[in-house]
Amino acid sequence: MERCDVLIIGAGPAGAAAGVTLARAGLGVTIVDRAFFPRTKTCGDALSERAVALLRALAGARAESLPRAEVRSAAAILPEGPRIVRRCSGDPGWIVRRVDLDACLRDAAEEAGAQVIEGVNVRELLRERGVVIGAAAGERRWRASVVIAADGPASIAWSALGLEKPRQQQLAVAATTYMRGVTMAEMGCSEHYLERALPNGYGWVFPAIDGWSNVGVYQREDSFHAGGRRLRELLAEFIARHPERFASATAGEVHAWPLPLRRTPRAPAGCPGLLLAGDAARLVDPLSGEGIWQALRSGQITGEVAAASLAREGRVGAAALGRLRRRVSLELGLPCWLKGQVQGAMRVIVEYGLARHTALSWALQRGYGGAVEPEEEVLR
Ligand SMILES: Cc1cc2nc3c(=O)[nH]c(=O)nc-3n(C[C@H](O)[C@H](O)[C@H](O)COP(=O)(O)OP(=O)(O)OC[C@H]3O[C@@H](n4cnc5c(N)ncnc54)[C@H](O)[C@@H]3O)c2cc1C
Repeated sequence: MERCDVLIIGAGPAGAAAGVTLARAGLGVTIVDRAFFPRTKTCGDALSERAVALLRALAGARAESLPRAEVRSAAAILPEGPRIVRRCSGDPGWIVRRVDLDACLRDAAEEAGAQVIEGVNVRELLRERGVVIGAAAGERRWRASVVIAADGPASIAWSALGLEKPRQQQLAVAATTYMRGVTMAEMGCSEHYLERALPNGYGWVFPAIDGWSNVGVYQREDSFHAGGRRLRELLAEFIARHPERFASATAGEVHAWPLPLRRTPRAPAGCPGLLLAGDAARLVDPLSGEGIWQALRSGQITGEVAAASLAREGRVGAAALGRLRRRVSLELGLPCWLKGQVQGAMRVIVEYGLARHTALSWALQRGYGGAVEPEEEVLR
């Protein structure tokens, strides 16, 4: 049996952020991941401004050398309607390929003092008298004062916690590809197309890195199922609907992956000896599909709560779980729940073409924090 203060399952953004935070607090941290880094992850690769700020705090100088495209504005494009553009007032957001981002975060955790072990597929959580005390992967076993499950959207923690797999309104699905030669309307602008063919979702085109743009479709699972289409078809049709962007572009392979959404304010925290972070805690924003900031921030909060509880009480019990649940629910759960309500309203606006109504257009601009740009000024 190998021993450590904290065992983290998963070295993605959530696990790495928890690892950096705990190692900086002086704890003995082991992070295990089934993959070997650098590894890719199906994603849109978009880091919001707040995700970039947190990445910088966690990875320091490493973050500055990441290959990236800067995002200086974001456009929500409604069918036959306005293009609402929000411009960055401060530092821009970034597009960073996950193969680079996740390797950077993994290395930052190691640099902070965490031990990172790759190629370890955790199959089982170990318990003693109802408390999680470690995990096992084949013959290898780890014993820890606390285990953090940061193992993504099919976490092994869920069955241990008696949680059903998310589905319908608690889940989204997305497909993405890299395309070369996309004609963008504006440099450094990420575009989100709200379309009738993608209710409770959108299609996206993001600024290119080395000529390759991340292009994809995102939809809540209940709407996706009701449509009766395959994700690959939805992506092909989205691309076909926009010759102004894609007529001279070539596409690479298509990849699809699920996103566990947070649609209630109260987020699951874990159980005695076990804490959840990132997609394992189901923290993706249902409206935007943003999950990287949520993973980084929840990993950081989980690390802070675990470090404080171990220093004070030598364990992570009911009081620590309560503190974690309150912080994550307030800072991440509540905003996601509100965004879920906005998603419902947006669906009606898109479906019935209401965006041209003056009052609604005004509300949309305020809600989006942007301005409606006249269509004749937009290069399409
Ligand atoms: C198509 C798509 C597009 C997206 N686009 C964006 C976007 O543009 N911007 C954004 O902010 N978010 C986006 N997201 C969401 C974002 O990708 C996730 O929310 C984010 O990756 C969550 O990070 P995480 O660390 O919780 O999980 P992950 O990134 O999934 O990392 C989990 C890690 O755990 C490891 N692991 C899993 N199981 C085990 C096991 N049993 N044993 C050991 N290791 C294990 C995996 O190998 C992986 O390294 C997108 C998601 C999808 C599917």
